[in-house]
Amino acid sequence: MSRILVLYTGGTIGMDHTPEGLAPVPGLLPRLLPRLARPGLEFDVVEFEQLIDSASLEPRQWNQIIDALDSRYHDYDGFVVIHGTDTMAYSAGVLAFALRGLAKPVVLTGAQLPLVHPRSDGWSNLADAFEAACQPDLHEVVVAFDRLLLRGSRVRKLDVERFAGFGCPNAEPLAEFAIHAHWRRDGWLPADGGPWRPQRIDEGLKLAVLMLTPGHGSALAGRALRDGGLDGAAVLSYGSGNAPADPELLDGIAAMTARGCPVLTLTQSVKGAVEVGAYAASQPLAKAGALPGADMTPEAALAKLQVLLSAGVGGAALREQLVRPLRGEMTA
Ligand code: ASP
Repeated sequence: MSRILVLYTGGTIGMDHTPEGLAPVPGLLPRLLPRLARPGLEFDVVEFEQLIDSASLEPRQWNQIIDALDSRYHDYDGFVVIHGTDTMAYSAGVLAFALRGLAKPVVLTGAQLPLVHPRSDGWSNLADAFEAACQPDLHEVVVAFDRLLLRGSRVRKLDVERFAGFGCPNAEPLAEFAIHAHWRRDGWLPADGGPWRPQRIDEGLKLAVLMLTPGHGSALAGRALRDGGLDGAAVLSYGSGNAPADPELLDGIAAMTARGCPVLTLTQSVKGAVEVGAYAASQPLAKAGALPGADMTPEAALAKLQVLLSAGVGGAALREQLVRPLRGEMTA
């Protein structure tokens, strides 16, 4: 017998048509879920008081999810978090880093079409999520979507039109659901070995992901870094980590670094990694103090900064942890 806890936070999957357009309808999803009952599975559903379109996600919702998981962690074998797709990748990233000592599956899912729609993808996503949440050797945060199981620290929303809404540009799926479920166990993370001690998020942290663009983009990013009061940031550079040697950008990075506030360099390309030294144009960022984020996604980088800074990690330990994989988020 597997016992699963379902946390319902909002999203299209439980929405219905209202005069203003699609919106979450309290009580609707818990009324529909018993359709997924099967022998050997017991599940409870917690519907969050305020169901949101995940476009309105705030750090306090991460703490609500973390607290809900923490208070019931020992009562269940696995967890399914039902979430809007717009910001699911951010929440998957935050949970991947925040749930330290996780030794059970935490599976996020949602849908592109509401369950009340005759062609909804929600039923198959939920069925796959439930099956993944019953795998006792899955010790990580994952996303179940369109017949794939994807690492939470690698996933991105890639398509708003097709059911295949999510992918990991730089990592393989952890399972594929066809007539049989193909579990790719050799790619699963081991439990981190430590005790269960989830990290709550500091809701006051000020973080930013800044994308360089030709023209004024790099100077604007530099000003945000210098004057924005940021606690941490990621700069989306070009290609394999290149940027113009714009004095405003480099001053901004140097100012952040001098304040002990980390700046990661990521690539704005969908696939591939930052590689300092591949081009001379990658050196100025590194010399100003930016840390190479390898092939981390922007969502994972923001999540990693969020959790490490919330945990009070600073100085050399922070720099060291930012540039090495903690939960499978980057290629070493
Ligand atoms: N706007 C919706 C949300 O993120 C989209 C979805 O769930 O598919 O809540």
